[in-house]
Amino acid sequence: MEPGETLTLDLIIIGGGISASFLCLDILKKNPDFNILILESSTEFPQKIGESLVDMTALILEQKGIGHILQSQTKKSGIRFLFNENRSRDRSDIAEFASPTFPGKINAYHLDRKRFDQDLLEEVECRGVQVLRPAEILSFERKDLENQLVVKCNDQYLSLRARWVVDASGRSRYLHQSLGWKDKNIELQTGSLMAHFKHIQPNDVWDTPENKHWDTKAIALRKFSTTHLMRPYSWWWIIRLDEVTTSIGVMFDKRKVQVNDPEEHFRSLIKEDPELSKMTSGAEMGAIRYIENVPYVSEQLFEPGVALIGDSGAFMDPLFSPGLELIGQQSLWLSELLLKDKQEGMFDLKAWRKYQTQFHTAYDTRLTMYQFAYGIMGSHDLFTTWTKLGNFVYLSRIVYPSVVFPSRLKMPLRFTFLERLGVQIIGKRLNRLYDKRLAQGRTSKTGKGHLTYSGVRVPKDWRFIYTPLLLLSKAAFGYVSLEIRELVSLKKSVHK
Ligand SMILES: Cc1cc2nc3c(=O)[nH]c(=O)nc-3n(C[C@H](O)[C@H](O)[C@H](O)COP(=O)(O)OP(=O)(O)OC[C@H]3O[C@@H](n4cnc5c(N)ncnc54)[C@H](O)[C@@H]3O)c2cc1C
Repeated sequence: MEPGETLTLDLIIIGGGISASFLCLDILKKNPDFNILILESSTEFPQKIGESLVDMTALILEQKGIGHILQSQTKKSGIRFLFNENRSRDRSDIAEFASPTFPGKINAYHLDRKRFDQDLLEEVECRGVQVLRPAEILSFERKDLENQLVVKCNDQYLSLRARWVVDASGRSRYLHQSLGWKDKNIELQTGSLMAHFKHIQPNDVWDTPENKHWDTKAIALRKFSTTHLMRPYSWWWIIRLDEVTTSIGVMFDKRKVQVNDPEEHFRSLIKEDPELSKMTSGAEMGAIRYIENVPYVSEQLFEPGVALIGDSGAFMDPLFSPGLELIGQQSLWLSELLLKDKQEGMFDLKAWRKYQTQFHTAYDTRLTMYQFAYGIMGSHDLFTTWTKLGNFVYLSRIVYPSVVFPSRLKMPLRFTFLERLGVQIIGKRLNRLYDKRLAQGRTSKTGKGHLTYSGVRVPKDWRFIYTPLLLLSKAAFGYVSLEIRELVSLKKSVHK
């Protein structure tokens, strides 16, 4: 390019993380001549969060044709939730709700994000995307569908022009900040603390007893499951990235858990916790990262000529790892809109508005599930009852339809009015029960070594047909038996 010359593109993407690469893959799959340039500010990716994939994300990634990149990551063997309501130091007092991944239609992964984001960026570069790195945006002027940028990269100044600019700059939210867009008011107020640990203690030091069924039947060893330690108003993730490194972090409701000195808080929580103190004894801890405000969602996701994707627009909560799933779905929507815009040379306001409404409704739907979850996290039977209902809805409404009809992959979960009402009634009921039990000094009734399996799976054989029915019966039975147990304990307390 000559000095003073302007490079004209179809699309400029700010940021070169997962959101940017997903969007490029989806666009280039349908139109390999789409002219895209990525501006990435870093010279090298730092270690990022977002390390566990869910089933739906695995399906979406499969469709993006990056199986060869995923294969160098660690296979995730399932999900586990561990409860220790009496803070006992006896491992057999821990109650467990687990979902091993048996061989089937879907394989999820634990991701080393530094390596994964780099591999993805190189992949899209190979497929024809231009990448400027390290890039600094010096000026950005826009008028409807005409964007002009001046960028500095390795002491070179470049003038760029594009009909569309998509912001994929993550939590730095470049466009959202510079255009002065606002976020919606949301009820959920959570924060997070996390670090990578090297050489944590083997599972037989801190975990529930060895599970031979899991280790022989699931797609990988139990230690490579995403393990959650459930605590009052908070939860921890334990994600083994490989034999050496484990990602450990905590999410907490800020209305119940106060954090003054984040680093000190993280260290003391670990020291006082029965499982975490054993697990991390003698392990090497990396830098502690604090995220004060985890959830947010922009009121606006586009204007003619600019759009947001990924963390630049919204993030909710990492429980059940929906982050990359929503980004994958958003990328499918956005790529269709951008391809249509180029093909027709016309901005279709109605279609863009429909996308924005769909996204906000999907965000709202998930938020409802999370808002009620934090108040019951400390309780084994209340939380598992809630999760069983969620498992049925998620598998039957989202995962199964997407396996059968791949065109449904881009459709996120959205509640109807009646579904929302039902979820709110049950959510409020479970939260009230937790408060009541707390006041009465009661905990879940679980015997020693309690273990239940969720039944969540997407089998390849005939069991594919009946799995959703099984999940429905587990959810209904779980809720009814919880209410019966409550009635019995109420009767007992009246007799006393
Ligand atoms: C506590 C926590 C745990 C999570 N766990 C999970 C999980 O288990 N599973 C899951 O699926 N998701 C998880 N997530 C969500 C996931 O981490 C994010 O949604 C995802 O990483 C966002 O990707 P992104 O590409 O939008 O942003 P990023 O990965 O942040 O990428 C943005 C890129 O933009 C670049 N950039 C920034 N500013 C500029 C600029 N001005 N110019 C040019 N480049 C710029 C940055 O260098 C960066 O490379 C978690 C999130 C949190 C908060």
